[in-house]
Amino acid sequence: MDLASMREYGARSVEATCQTLGCGQEAIVNMDGRPDEISVPDIGLKLKCSRCGSRDIKIIPD
Ligand SMILES: [Zn+2]
Repeated sequence: MDLASMREYGARSVEATCQTLGCGQEAIVNMDGRPDEISVPDIGLKLKCSRCGSRDIKIIPD
């Protein structure tokens, strides 16, 4: 899924969840202004957990 199809479903942000055991930090990340062709899983590669610094982030459309 990319941002274009996500927007078709009316979602404007994604929920990012840290996969590190014992952390589980969640954040809502607004995707306004990001290009349509970015794939949703790729967003996780660019994010870092604000609590533990992990880059193991799972992304689901909000
Ligand atoms: Zn974390």
